Amino acid sequence: MPLEAGLLEILACPACHAPLDDATAAETPELICTGKDCGLAYPVRDGIPVLLVDEARRPG
Ligand SMILES: [Zn+2]
Repeated sequence: MPLEAGLLEILACPACHAPLDDATAAETPELICTGKDCGLAYPVRDGIPVLLVDEARRPG
């Protein structure tokens, strides 16, 4: 399910406030933080991004 148009532009990583990269075309939809030292991957459930650090997948 694609995200609402324009929604991605207003979203930012709650941990470091960097923009998020849309990876919803992947098998498991996620929003990936573009922060150099952050890179958390936030899940998208039923088309709704879950921007909670506790829910995010840690890189590596
Ligand atoms: Zn981040």
